[in-house]
Parts: sequence; C-alpha cells; structure tokens
Amino acid sequence: MAEEVGELAALELAAKLGHEEVILLHDRDSGLRGAIAIHDSTFGPSVGGTRMRVYPTYDDAVVDALRLARAMTYKATMVEMPYGGAKAVLVGDPSRDKTRALLVAYAKAVDRLAGRFFTGCDMGIEPRDLKVMQRHTKHLSHANEDSPIDTSYLAALGVFEGIAAASAVLGREFSSLHVAIQGVGAVGFHLARLLAEHGVHVTVADTDMARTRRAAREFEAQAVEPEAIYDVEADVFSPNAMGGILNDDTIARLKVQAIVGGANEQLLEPRHGEVLHSIGVLWGPDYVVNAGGLLSLLYETKQADEEAVVERVRLIGPRLADLWQRSHEEELPPGVVADRIVEERLALGRRAKSESVRRTKYEDD
Ligand code: NAD
Repeated sequence: MAEEVGELAALELAAKLGHEEVILLHDRDSGLRGAIAIHDSTFGPSVGGTRMRVYPTYDDAVVDALRLARAMTYKATMVEMPYGGAKAVLVGDPSRDKTRALLVAYAKAVDRLAGRFFTGCDMGIEPRDLKVMQRHTKHLSHANEDSPIDTSYLAALGVFEGIAAASAVLGREFSSLHVAIQGVGAVGFHLARLLAEHGVHVTVADTDMARTRRAAREFEAQAVEPEAIYDVEADVFSPNAMGGILNDDTIARLKVQAIVGGANEQLLEPRHGEVLHSIGVLWGPDYVVNAGGLLSLLYETKQADEEAVVERVRLIGPRLADLWQRSHEEELPPGVVADRIVEERLALGRRAKSESVRRTKYEDD
C-alpha cells in the first residue's frame, strides 16, 4: 500500500488516494498541530488511530496520515465491517509536547466531526490519553481499558491463522514449521506463544533485548540480533514490528517460502509485492493478515459477542488461502488481487449509496 509520493504535495496525494476530507489541526493556545485524514465512509463512519510523533516536515505528517487512513479503509472493507478508514497524526514529541491542553484541544476537534471519525491509540498515544479525551468526546474506540477483549491478541490470532493457511499452501505439516518473528511486542509475543503451543519452532528478534530474552525463555525460542532476523533460514518470516521492512535489501537476504506478519505497511514500495511474487515467495498482504485488531471493534460497539469476533478473526486464514489461490490462477501478486477485491466492493458500495441519495432527493422533490 506504500505510495510513490515523488514531488506530490500532501494534498495532491489526498486527491490521488481518493480521500473524502482532510482536516488540518491548529490550536494556538495548546500548540496542537496535526491532521485528520478521512479516507472513506461508504460503509460507515471512518475509524483509525491517532499517532503522535516528530516528523521532518508538516507535509510528511499529513502524508503518513493519508497512507494509513487509506490502509484502514482497505482493511475494514476486506473484512466487511460497517466502517471506513481514517487516521490522525499529531506533530510533536509525545514525551515533551503531549500536554493535557493539547489532548483536550484535539478531543474537541474530534468531537466537532460529530461521529464521522472514531479514533483510538496508535504510536505515541496511550489509553490514559484517551481517558483525558473521553471527557470531551465520545467518539473514541478501544478507550475501555477493562475490556475483556485484547486487540493485540486478536491481531496475533489473525497472523497465526494466516501462517496456518500458508503451511497448507506450502504442503507442510503445521507443527514442522520454523517461523522467524521480527518484534515480540504486544502482537509478536502473543503470536510466539500461539505458535509454540502448536509445536512450531520459533526464532525471535527484538531491538528491546529484554523482550527478546523473555520470549526466548518462555517459548524455548532461538534468539538472534535484530538485524540477523532477515538471514535466518526458516519457512516463514513474520514481521511484527514496523513498516517498510520488505525492500530490495531484505528481500535479497530472506531465506523463507512465505511472509505473514502483523506489521502495517510492510512493502517499502508496491513493486516489492511484485518482486516477492516473481521469486515465488508467498506474501500475506498486511491489511488482510492484521485485521484481527480492528475486528475487536465489533465487540466494543456491541455488534458481536467475543465468540463471534474470534470466529471472524479465524476467517483470516481461509480468506488468505483464497487470495493466494486467485493470485496463482491470475498470475498476479496477492496484494494486487486484494486491492482489486476491495476496490470493487467500494465501487459497488459507492454506487448503491449515490443511488439511494438520488432516490431520496427525487422523493423530496
Ligand atoms: P509493540 O510496540 O507492542 O511491539 C513492537 C515491537 O517491535 C517492540 O517490542 C519493539 O521493540 C520491536 N521493534 C521495533 N523495531 C524493531 C526492529 N527493527 N527489529 C526488531 N524489533 C523491533 O507494537 P504492536 O502493538 O505489537 O504492533 C506491532 C505491529 O503490528 C505494528 O506495525 C502495528 O502497527 C501492527 N498492528 C498492531 C495491532 C495491535 O492491535 N496491536 C493491530 C494491527 C496491526
């Protein structure tokens, strides 16, 4: 889903990616600066986390929001949720600039959108920040710390099901697999546990050595230095840390047959999906694999109980298997097939929506 930005200004990119609306945030008194990107609301209100970090330029911040918002639309549409995609970025160092006044000003901006945008945590924004915001807007997702549903567990469960689907495509006994996991944070750690419980051999790497050691100890996993994870001879590489990790350098080094992980925006550029396809490496498009976290919203909004949500997450495996089958038949990278499925659904949804608007208008006249 990564886009070539080239010399495009952020707002030109917004038009190119088909964004509905981009709201620039500026609050003189609190110092709030940022943007809310609403990509699409064809199937329902748009949802997406809020990220706070330092960006080289303001344009870079908006570009980040635009790309992530579109990825949310694709994720929600692929798993047929009644939501669209959005994302907000706040510019600043969370440890220094994230004041109560800034969070309040941001919450009020979210509230002014009157439910068109629901947001939650992302990099730099924690549940306790949502608690501050909660007094000024109710349009927050995953704000309940006491929820029995753990979104990172559900995200990991989706990755686990994806790896199981890959083992079937590769014609391998699941328990005979060796999986190299990059990042054993919230998602990666749950994943390592699920795999180890099923007898899968796991190698782990994390830039946080304490986390690496803990996973190695608990799951009898092999531990390697962060940079060495790309060189591990394994069956599956599972990226669960950051984006852009599938690029010319790493693809040349990887010695695996499949890549299935929870990290967002794994391809540095769209062409890297084509490279993987051309060398016969099975790649699970990130927004298909990691939709488990988003599905938890169905529980939070009381649209499904815990069991039904888990069932929907488990469908990620068959969905990937179907995608890989089509990719094989049509000789197209799985990411291209996935994007096409989503774009067709969106086109149908938009057509149905505009039909209904036209009908209502006609009746009013
Ligand atoms: P996290 O911060 O809990 O864990 C990420 C881990 O990766 C950390 O332990 C960090 O030390 C490690 N890391 C960072 N850079 C690394 C590197 N170069 N090499 C090895 N390890 C490195 O985050 P998380 O919630 O587990 O999310 C992981 C990924 O999954 C992110 O890309 C996130 O966007 C995506 N994701 C998360 C969820 C969720 O519900 N948590 C849902 C969908 C997608």
